[in-house]
Amino acid sequence: MKKRFKNVNIALPLILFVLIGFTACSTDSDGAIIIEEEAGEEEASITELSSAFDQFSDAVTVILSSDGTQIDIETTGFPNHRSIYWETDNTLYEDEPNVRKTTENTFIGGGRGEASSFTVDAIPDLTGATVATELGTIGIAVSGSAIFNDQEGMGDLDEAAGSLDWAGAHKGPGVYHYHLEPTPITSDDDSLVGILMDGVFIYGRQCSSTGTNPTDLDASGGHTSTTQYETEAIYHYHIINEVYPTGSYAYEPAYVLFAGPFQGY
Ligand SMILES: [Zn+2]
Ligand SMILES: [Zn+2]
Repeated sequence: MKKRFKNVNIALPLILFVLIGFTACSTDSDGAIIIEEEAGEEEASITELSSAFDQFSDAVTVILSSDGTQIDIETTGFPNHRSIYWETDNTLYEDEPNVRKTTENTFIGGGRGEASSFTVDAIPDLTGATVATELGTIGIAVSGSAIFNDQEGMGDLDEAAGSLDWAGAHKGPGVYHYHLEPTPITSDDDSLVGILMDGVFIYGRQCSSTGTNPTDLDASGGHTSTTQYETEAIYHYHIINEVYPTGSYAYEPAYVLFAGPFQGY
């Protein structure tokens, strides 16, 4: 994983802060300047990225904004593991006889661009509002590839299950993406799976805080506890330990990676 800090001229944020600071100020009846309320509305910031980001492959670049309030996450989209979806002359290509590729000439890097990026709040906004996930990328896995939800554009995930490889992933014309527990990354353990677009990390079916499959998960598969990367309790998701009936999936049992909704927007 390439970690770097945005190279921004420090003078600009300082000037902006001074300008905003002055416009936000007001005076009370005694003429004293009141700025504390405005300061309270500032976005929460961090000074250092979580060590969880060290788990991401070299395909992923993570940048903490200069003011520490936001994190940019960029990826090439290419997974760092074997799949039938690589081109046959790629060293990571693996024949999977039971997988029915979406189309024969579909392969990683052979369609539209697979790079993607998104920006999250450095500290997710966990105020209780939830947001449904949509079709398309909902997160980035530590392997570098995209995380999708439990829906498929052309119909139910069940109908597409036969095209999912051993990693619980496939690709159509768009990016290679996971729908199911990605076994190259985690298989009923507590490994970090990735980060979702609401800035919340998602882990495997077990939690490092207890060494077991957690039983206190909310509707999104989330709960608050320590993790192997956080000594302070932090809200995070897990893959829910519930078998998903996929029908024609070649590698059953299947576990949906994330069905939503987001809790961190
Ligand atoms: Zn899909
Ligand atoms: Zn946990």
